[in-house]
Amino acid sequence: MDCLFCKIINREIPADIVFEDEHVLAFHDIDPKAPTHILIIPKKHISTLNDIEERDLEVVGRLQYTAAQLARQQGFADDGYRVVMNCNEMGGQTVYHIHMHLMGGRQFTWPAG
Ligand code: AMP
Ligand code: ZN
Repeated sequence: MDCLFCKIINREIPADIVFEDEHVLAFHDIDPKAPTHILIIPKKHISTLNDIEERDLEVVGRLQYTAAQLARQQGFADDGYRVVMNCNEMGGQTVYHIHMHLMGGRQFTWPAG
């Protein structure tokens, strides 16, 4: 499959991996928008948030759980952080394998741009 993040999962493209288990992979974003910017992805290819099925609920929950664990490990869990998932063109999605952005280490504003 011609998917950038599946290639990272399969080690066909290098990435700075910070966490991996049976279900999820987390690695540093190549173009960080915060002092810490990590992407958390399911190992199962799911193109967009619109494609999540009921059988995917556990793995999607694991994305959020992993984000919280990594926020603690990175040291900004208590100060606070931003988690974002973009869907399709109007949402700003550029890689069509769902991913959770975990960003920390600076003050975020609301609403997001
Ligand atoms: P989105 O715009 O929500 O689809 O986010 C895609 C993210 O993937 C962007 O923040 C990119 O900087 C990031 N990205 C693109 N290619 C790579 C790569 N090879 N390794 C790590 N992050 C990447
Ligand atoms: Zn994929």
